[in-house]
Amino acid sequence: MTTVPPGMPEDQASTRNAWQEKRKAAVRRKPSVLIGKVLYLDKLTVSFDRFKALNALTLHVDPGELLCIIGPNGAGKTTMMDVITGKTRPDEGSAWFGKNINLLTLTETEIVKAGIGRKFQKPTVFEFLSVFENLELALADNKSFWYTLVAHLTSAQRERIDEVLSIIDLAAERAAMAGALSHGQKQWLEIGMLLMQDPELLLVDEPVAGMTPQETERTGELLLSLAGKHSVIVVEHDMDFIRSIAERVTVLHEGRVIAEGNMDTVQNDQQVVDVYLGA
Ligand code: ADP
Ligand code: MG
Repeated sequence: MTTVPPGMPEDQASTRNAWQEKRKAAVRRKPSVLIGKVLYLDKLTVSFDRFKALNALTLHVDPGELLCIIGPNGAGKTTMMDVITGKTRPDEGSAWFGKNINLLTLTETEIVKAGIGRKFQKPTVFEFLSVFENLELALADNKSFWYTLVAHLTSAQRERIDEVLSIIDLAAERAAMAGALSHGQKQWLEIGMLLMQDPELLLVDEPVAGMTPQETERTGELLLSLAGKHSVIVVEHDMDFIRSIAERVTVLHEGRVIAEGNMDTVQNDQQVVDVYLGA
């Protein structure tokens, strides 16, 4: 049982307890034997002219972990995701996906195939197609857009689409045009499209920007439900949101890690308060 801190209003306390239960469930789903790290970044440096967007950045992600990354604008969060996905090459350092995959030797397409999916800030769903068809297209592989839409799905593929529809809470909207969805629903659909490839690691950059409070809460539940089965890195500015889902938080500033730990630890870190939270 979780306890209510003295002085905390009851509704706030029950929300907090509900989140704690979900977090614990995500932790329980993690593989019991940790066979190394899913992602290991070591002393990554990325220079633009003489400015270092990443400055000897070292961090790791464990199997099934939901890692939250926070930090002020310009801290290097997006650049870090660009390096992981092969969009930007670092000047120095290394980036390993599991024990054997050196990300710095792979192209962007090869990195997706290896099992890393990235959700950008702006949803990029096909607005003129249905929710179902969007998920169908995400199966595409190297087949063409039109081929995929006219080809017959296998029963396993149908089942996977149904499963993803329920994970992203859009089963009732399966036949709706994606263009008719709310902003939040489009974001979930895009996460669903990534899930069609069953990635081992998901990168999510500012998922709740522009969402209503209800959509934000639902997104937190969605990300927590993915943890355990997938490893997830979430970058977000909304501190209430981070507080609701966070287990381990990494704080970036000027291209490096300045603090790491649970929410309480980083919130009480003087340097974090100075450069980010106190601003
Ligand atoms: P964050 O996502 O934490 O806000 P970014 O990774 O987007 O930070 O940016 C880190 C720094 O690198 C910023 O100062 C940004 O202006 C700079 N930067 C990012 N991409 C480029 C680029 N392509 N050319 C020059 N500077 C860049
Ligand atoms: Mg950014």
